[in-house]
Amino acid sequence: MAVKGKVMIIEDDRAICNFVRRVLEANGYEAIEVNTGREGISLLASHCPDVLILDLGLPDMDGMDVLKALRAWSLMPVIVVSARTGENDKVKALDAGADDYITKPFGTSELMARIRTAIRHTRTTSHAGIAKDDKFTARGLTIDYGKYRVYIDGRDARLTQNEFKLVALLGRYAGRVLTYDYLIREIWGPNKSYDNQILRVNMANIRRKIEKNPAEPEYIVTEVGVGYRMIEGD
Ligand code: CA
Repeated sequence: MAVKGKVMIIEDDRAICNFVRRVLEANGYEAIEVNTGREGISLLASHCPDVLILDLGLPDMDGMDVLKALRAWSLMPVIVVSARTGENDKVKALDAGADDYITKPFGTSELMARIRTAIRHTRTTSHAGIAKDDKFTARGLTIDYGKYRVYIDGRDARLTQNEFKLVALLGRYAGRVLTYDYLIREIWGPNKSYDNQILRVNMANIRRKIEKNPAEPEYIVTEVGVGYRMIEGD
């Protein structure tokens, strides 16, 4: 089987390392295991993995400092693994340049979905220009970027301009969490006062239009206290 990509994991918990390595190798990825932050920083440059899985609680240093050191020279995708369930820690990691996070304990399918998304995103951002026939589809949802429309099972969801922009942006980063701050900045501009209310109202309207049951969204899920995530595309 051809190797699909090289994934480095910096994590001191041996049980988690073994689990991640087994899952990666079973799915055709090469896994490089590192147990300390310092060793990780020095090996990142020589191995240049396709994705880094980074534990925040390392024995010799804070994983956030590994992330900051890496971001000084590389944009490689980073998925932060954390036992910290605090929403602030997740937001801080995303703001410091992590692409995504995963909270312990996590399962095989969740891990693989995050890795696939991270790798796909690096491979598509280099030619992210919007073509006329550019579309995103996930189950019954279609985002037509050329027509500025969203369809559910072929029916126009009749989104307003800002609603469309929100769904379009989440679709561009499907599978990844986008923070409230990031979404507000992208849709309403950097001068919009820091207020999630406008975002919540828009999301409630979007869900009424695209979800079968807005209380249990199927397409755009809420990451409580952090942001929103569009499901992976077909
Ligand atoms: Ca740890």
